Parts: sequence; structure tokens; C-alpha cells
Amino acid sequence: MLFWLKNDVGKKYSYASKDLSLAGYTRSICPNCGREVVSPTYIGNAPHLILEGGRKFPDFLQFCGAGNRLTIVSENALNIFERESVSGYDEYLNCQIELASTFKDVNNVPNYYSLNVSGSVDLDLQAMHLRRKKVCSSCGQFEWSRTRIGVYIVDEKTWDSSDICFLKSMPGIKLCSSKFVEIVNSNNLAGFSFPPISLPPTFVK
Ligand SMILES: [Zn+2]
Repeated sequence: MLFWLKNDVGKKYSYASKDLSLAGYTRSICPNCGREVVSPTYIGNAPHLILEGGRKFPDFLQFCGAGNRLTIVSENALNIFERESVSGYDEYLNCQIELASTFKDVNNVPNYYSLNVSGSVDLDLQAMHLRRKKVCSSCGQFEWSRTRIGVYIVDEKTWDSSDICFLKSMPGIKLCSSKFVEIVNSNNLAGFSFPPISLPPTFVK
């Protein structure tokens, strides 16, 4: 069983507002379809995050900046995931952390790691009455047949059984297994929210 993997934004947690390692974007025109191909470029190999917001540091840190959607967890959470053999990430990078000037006398900032989520699952597009159109065989860009997605239906047959996974059709959206939910809850890890998959991921907080 899968759940959406979301940040709990209802509490006064700090969050990452920016990744300073984002250098910019390279832009080119796809020779096949003529669409613009935009990809972020980075300096160094680990995120360099600016933290803002509340003084409570969650185990699952929300990232609101530009560039790739990051999945950032505390060292405590990562140690527990490693011990419990949580699957679905193939790499983790130690983030460089900088505090916004509003944080004074703060010295209990956890170490944070950015997980490269490798597990995957996909939507059941047919059941959603949704299809890709004008798919480019060269750059892979496409348009959805409707602008409003409506109900999301996840096709669990496409799930590789990873405890953390991304949605292949919308890679910014992450999901997790019930084993993952149990591990987070039994270890009181802070900052996670697991809305049921019957709710659309964009409307749940
Ligand atoms: Zn193209």
C-alpha cells in the first residue's frame, strides 16, 4: 500500500528556501520538436541550503527553492532508514547548511542529507482517462490531453516495491510504503505527512 510522501507544513518547522548550489539553467532547442529543453546546472555535488522559518528542525525538511525537487532528511532519520533497510534511494549527499539571519543563537541544527530517490511507480493513465500527446521521441517532452488532471489513480502493478518512490509521469511527486510510515511513526520522526492516496497530491498538506 502506498501513501503520498509530503512535508508536514502545519507546524513551525524550519524549511530550506534556496539551494545555493544551483548555478543556473542550460537552455537549448530540441531539433526534433522545436521545444525548449531546460535543465538546471549545479556547482559541486551536494546541495547548499538556506534555512528559514521556525526554530524547530524537522527530520523531513521542506524544500521550496528552484531547481530539482529535493528529498531532504536529518542524519537521525537517515541512520534509522539505513538500520531498517528502507529501500528506494541509491545515494545520499550531506547538505551544506546556512541559517537565515533570523536564526540567532541557534546551535542545534541537525546534519541534513539529500536522498536520490530511485524507486518508482506510475499512474494508471487509462483509468484516469488521461493520455500523453505530442510526445517527442528525442527530448521526451509531451502534453497532457487535459489541463486539469482530476483524480489521481496510482497503478500499483508498476510499483517496484521500494519504500520510497517517485511518480514516473510526475517525478517531483514522491510516495512511500506502509513500512516507511510505520518506521517514521514508531521513531517519532518529525515533519512527515502521509495523506492517503485517494486524495490528490497537489491539494493535501
Ligand atoms: Zn523534442
